[in-house]
Amino acid sequence: MPIKIALLGSTGSIGTQTLDIVRANPSLFEVTTITSNNNWELLVAQAREFQPDSVVIADKARYAEVKEALADLPVKIYAGAESLEQVVAMESVDVVVAAIVGYAGLMPVVRALEAGKKVALANKESLVVAGDVLMRLALRHNAPIIPIDSEHSAIFQSLVGEVSPIEKLILTASGGPFLRTPLEKMAEVSVAQALDHPRWSMGAKITIDSATMMNKGFEVIEAKWLFDVSPGQIEVLVHPQSVVHSMVQFHDGAVKAQLGTPDMHVPIQYALSFPKRLPLSGERLDFGALARMEFFAADIERFPCLGLAYEALRLGGNSAAVVNAANEVAVRAFLDERIRFTSICRTIEYALSRVERVNSPSLEDYCAADAEARRVAEEFMAGAKK
Ligand code: NAD
Ligand code: MG
Repeated sequence: MPIKIALLGSTGSIGTQTLDIVRANPSLFEVTTITSNNNWELLVAQAREFQPDSVVIADKARYAEVKEALADLPVKIYAGAESLEQVVAMESVDVVVAAIVGYAGLMPVVRALEAGKKVALANKESLVVAGDVLMRLALRHNAPIIPIDSEHSAIFQSLVGEVSPIEKLILTASGGPFLRTPLEKMAEVSVAQALDHPRWSMGAKITIDSATMMNKGFEVIEAKWLFDVSPGQIEVLVHPQSVVHSMVQFHDGAVKAQLGTPDMHVPIQYALSFPKRLPLSGERLDFGALARMEFFAADIERFPCLGLAYEALRLGGNSAAVVNAANEVAVRAFLDERIRFTSICRTIEYALSRVERVNSPSLEDYCAADAEARRVAEEFMAGAKK
């Protein structure tokens, strides 16, 4: 029997690559649900190809188009964010691939874990916002969370078979497009420049997060929750070649790493096939042709967002949820050319200083922090100089 997958965010970068894997392994995997925010044309094309039981279009305004375009297929069509929470819990689902971008991915992950589903997690923002809640749910409902994020997959792969304590995790970072941009030019970088990532081809939001290195900050928070380590045990190293995807140092000083070409199909497929590996064609590493591998500390002055993520961890409570929400609206504003690149971090800093701190937050508290941080961030950006 093929493994039945509910694929949230099927029209995105991770979503379409997940479908490549399903397409290549029809006897092993089957998608029973696919979902999109508003890209109804691609959702419809995917439904025709993969014949899922149900599709969800989160944007209700697009429901009519989807309904009409799929009228001849025996597929259930749902609309709205609430439907995302329902399809993940369906009896037929074995694994939920969480590939929605941003805070919108949180509640479907909560519901999937509550229903005891295995979650292959790309949506790092859900762990950033409510990591403790998610890890508790996973434990209570015996629902494994397998990381898709390449760094966390590398660590996860390095931990297979290990029963001994982790001394340190080393997260590698490409450094993004602005690793060597003169500092005084950072305020002037364009959207096109920020979207031009040197190593990975990804959705727009995570590409901007990579340019500010907030993405790496989020990955530090993600690693803390997934692997139960303290922030002091997580080191970030810039590694522009992106060959070493991350490393684990054990208490005897041994270091294990996972290496490869930058191809998200590898961690996505591993999350679905674990503990086995499936064959995957594609480029292989050519060590003879690798001129060098560099590793160096990230420059916090250049990438203040990375410092803010560590600060949120230090502050605890709802701080990371505030940082995530302010980042989300600030990145949107930058993409819309409403604020400068360097204002992204200033907006987050402002929100972090303004939103009331709540210690030991509930899920509702995290959601309230998200809403308040968005409001405060918008207020700040309205007054910020373009
Ligand atoms: P993307 O923008 O390419 O795709 C996002 C998907 O989510 C789309 O299918 C979109 O329709 C859906 N979506 C967006 N907003 C939504 C909403 N409000 N409600 C419901 N659905 C919504 O993003 P991506 O690059 O595929 O990233 C997805 C997630 O995976 C992110 O959390 C990202 O951080 C993480 N991730 C991505 C990569 C990568 O290589 N792309 C690598 C590591 C982690
Ligand atoms: Mg990553």
